[in-house]
Amino acid sequence: MKIENPNPIQWHFSDRAQQLQASFIREILKITQRPEIISFAGGLPSPATFPVERMKEAFDKVLTDSGRVALQYGPTDGYAPLREWIADYLSTDGSKIVPEQILMVSGSQQALDLLGKVLIDEGSRVLVETPSYLGALQAFSVYRPEFKSVDTDEHGLVPSSIDAVAQGARLLYSLPNFQNPTGRSLSIERRLELVETCARLGLPLIEDDPYGALSYKGEPKPRMLAMNPDGVIYMGSFSKVLTPGIRLGYVCAPLPLVRRLELAKQAADLHTAQLTQMVVHEVVKDGFLDRHIPTIRTLYGNQCQVMLDALAEHFPADATWTTPEGGMFIWVTLPKQIDALKLLDQAIAARVAFVPGSPFYANEPETNTLRLSFVTVPPERIREGVAVLGKLIKDML
Ligand code: PMP
Repeated sequence: MKIENPNPIQWHFSDRAQQLQASFIREILKITQRPEIISFAGGLPSPATFPVERMKEAFDKVLTDSGRVALQYGPTDGYAPLREWIADYLSTDGSKIVPEQILMVSGSQQALDLLGKVLIDEGSRVLVETPSYLGALQAFSVYRPEFKSVDTDEHGLVPSSIDAVAQGARLLYSLPNFQNPTGRSLSIERRLELVETCARLGLPLIEDDPYGALSYKGEPKPRMLAMNPDGVIYMGSFSKVLTPGIRLGYVCAPLPLVRRLELAKQAADLHTAQLTQMVVHEVVKDGFLDRHIPTIRTLYGNQCQVMLDALAEHFPADATWTTPEGGMFIWVTLPKQIDALKLLDQAIAARVAFVPGSPFYANEPETNTLRLSFVTVPPERIREGVAVLGKLIKDML
């Protein structure tokens, strides 16, 4: 039986909900998922790297050995053996991280939302890099902060620019390794200066680090968490080193904060799925990542080099771009007169896609910038796509 609606609902969305906007990137991705398009737009890891067989074995083992625990509700803070594994992993550099500091989350994106919920009031000042990760700007925006941009240069965030905007700030959100969107990394000296500056100001420093393990050459740089465990909130993720579809990340934070985050998480979704946490623990506990991650590094490093070579060959001399030492992105700055949004229209007509840089800026955007991802596109298509973009740009000049 179906009831009539004599008084159709006039939806009254909250002020908060009225502000929500679809992510520009997700909109572009809808277009670019068409197979004929060469897409440098995605922020997706390469599915070629997903350890499908290993995951299958682990699901099977967990369900066979502990199915009734894996399929039950679990604790909000997460599956204890996995939290212990993460605490040990974060302590390999000599830090003394304890499992109580770890909160498992449903993708590190959830950590951004929870951090916003517990640290940001309407109008609170939040410091972000210029440009910064769009998903963080989106997550924090729900809590209606006042974003202040901290300067960056070709070496990443400039710590000496923090003081000028730090007055009353609730947090500083930083991406020290192979930043999304620029691919830049902070030097050890800058990390120290950043941590010292935040410590002097009593300013909580978020270290968002989903890409840190994906360095193409050399050892990863030290975590800022290790430099000041009482002032740094570290966010990690299994999305880029295993698979994003399992939606598993974690936060490591000082105890008073982590307990607040746990309460916020309890209200949001009770807990992250036990099944996936147990499966990931089964996968990582015997050192699988040490064997697996080098294969991702090699693939991404090679494709990055192909793109860098193609940019040098096809882009005009007055365009510049970053040379990442890891991660998934190259950031291009075009001659000032070129609007990347206009270029995108033409590029899509020519079956190539990328993400214009503007949405990554919390305040004044630089409209002549764009983000290119090289990880899901095979080398010959990278060359082809960059050549198309280079020609379009030269035609626009
Ligand atoms: N932080 C950054 C910088 C990211 O690039 C991403 C994913 N693109 C996330 C957080 C969220 O990752 P996940 O929720 O998959 O862990």
